[in-house]
Amino acid sequence: MEGTRRTCVQCGAVAEKGRLLRIAGRPGSTWVPDPAGRLPGRGIYLCREGGCIGRFAARIRTRKGGARWKMGDGSGELADLLSAMRSDEA
Ligand SMILES: [Zn+2]
Repeated sequence: MEGTRRTCVQCGAVAEKGRLLRIAGRPGSTWVPDPAGRLPGRGIYLCREGGCIGRFAARIRTRKGGARWKMGDGSGELADLLSAMRSDEA
């Protein structure tokens, strides 16, 4: 059975959905990490390995990066959560 493939928004790599970290949310609303891939809303996908999570976190800490996904004021909070997830894996 072929799994669904998704593209990492940071590096453009295409991988099975389960191998990427999903961030769930809606434009203009709160986005949260969704490791199980079960939350409603739209999804942003990132490689679980290779530094994409850290680079994405750094990106959304900037006003421009947060605006790219219409994250509003919640982007700093999400960046903190992503940074914490990274250190757990290290
Ligand atoms: Zn990537």
